[in-house]
Amino acid sequence: MSDIKTYIKENEERFLNELFELIRIPSISSSVEHKEDMLKCAKCWQKHLLAAGVDKAEIMPTDGNPVVYGEKIIDENLPVVLVYGHYDVMPVDPVSEWQSQPFEPEVRDGKIYARGADDDKGQSFIHAKAFEFLVKTNSLPCNVKFLLEGEEEISSPSLPEWCKKNKKMLQSDIIILSDTSMINQDTPSITCGLRGLAYLEVEVKSANRDLHSGLYGGAVANPINVLAKMIASLTDPQGCIKIKDFYKDVIKLNERERKDLNKAPFNLTEYKKDLNIEDVFGEEGYTTIERTGIRPTLDVCGIWGGYTGEGAKTVIPSTAYAKISMRLVPNQNHKTIAQLFQDHFKSIAPKYVKVKVKNLHGGQGYVTPIHSSGYRAASKALRDVYGKTPIPVRSGGSISIISAFDEILGIKSIMMGFGLPSDAIHSANENFPVYNFHKGIEAVTLFYKYFAELMK
Ligand SMILES: [Zn+2]
Repeated sequence: MSDIKTYIKENEERFLNELFELIRIPSISSSVEHKEDMLKCAKCWQKHLLAAGVDKAEIMPTDGNPVVYGEKIIDENLPVVLVYGHYDVMPVDPVSEWQSQPFEPEVRDGKIYARGADDDKGQSFIHAKAFEFLVKTNSLPCNVKFLLEGEEEISSPSLPEWCKKNKKMLQSDIIILSDTSMINQDTPSITCGLRGLAYLEVEVKSANRDLHSGLYGGAVANPINVLAKMIASLTDPQGCIKIKDFYKDVIKLNERERKDLNKAPFNLTEYKKDLNIEDVFGEEGYTTIERTGIRPTLDVCGIWGGYTGEGAKTVIPSTAYAKISMRLVPNQNHKTIAQLFQDHFKSIAPKYVKVKVKNLHGGQGYVTPIHSSGYRAASKALRDVYGKTPIPVRSGGSISIISAFDEILGIKSIMMGFGLPSDAIHSANENFPVYNFHKGIEAVTLFYKYFAELMK
């Protein structure tokens, strides 16, 4: 059996040419102009999956862009790994900022430059090539299913419904994906948590019309003043949220878990310098990494009302508005939190104003236990390849489809990312180091081996 490093070396050029074929299709999901390219890209993936050795690969319709589904079932008694990726990409404007054409991949200084080079064509192709090696060398230790969607960059509107319909077909022991980044070139990490979100808009109304601030000022409540006071009362000076039961479902991490999280390289001085701030602000007793990773937040994203034009206009406005975002941690239910907020906000409104609260958007948080077989297999694989135990990372952001997989399919996801923070995803000159592409293939190959062993 040839080893994976030799296999990569022998096939280096072919791997790149195949990936370039995918990259050359401008599969921008947010634009209707590219509708045909979506199908073209799905077909290209189907071809590559079949060539890599799946038993079957199908293009399946959804309410939006099609899903590519492929599988290789070698033995029903073996564990099943579901690989997730997306073939759609972000728009490329402004094209003038690109050093080379966004859909004409070019390798410069060891990096592939193109839209989708990292996110997520390059990263998901890692899985196709690791799978190919295991099939060709007859050493695949698991059953494998592939799911590639074409709407990730527009928040996967059709995938949850499609998953509900195909629940049985998607049954697996673990989902693995590469659509996140590692800390840096030599520091591997596994994203094991994402925050949820509850997003609301509030309206505070006083009189039925804007009033003269001289004639009415002092006698009728100003809704902007009232809203500002109401918002100020939602948190204490340390940033702790004062809504009853807000923290009730927050799971406290144990000392070991906190210690592991804080192993991630982080320099507070650099952080402050980068943002040009004298000091950071946040909940007492938590580090900056913890404040963004494992603690919930409440922030005003926008506030408006009254006169904001040039010069002075002496007016007491009738209405004031604000948009409020709460980032949640796993186990906090976004619907419960939205309701708690709504009840609380109405309860603190003084009699002289009327309050409306509108729910705009919500999503569940997500966490993978670091003692699970999937996490341990990924950790061992990355350790073998990089010579360092990967750092578990709790990302402050949200990926809605990962929590949907958990809710609908009951399957946990392992986010084994090989991108770098400098890959400029979603921006001009997106790139992906060929080195990371190759290391990724090595690591994913080992993941299967360790996962099969741990599941025995
Ligand atoms: Zn992506």
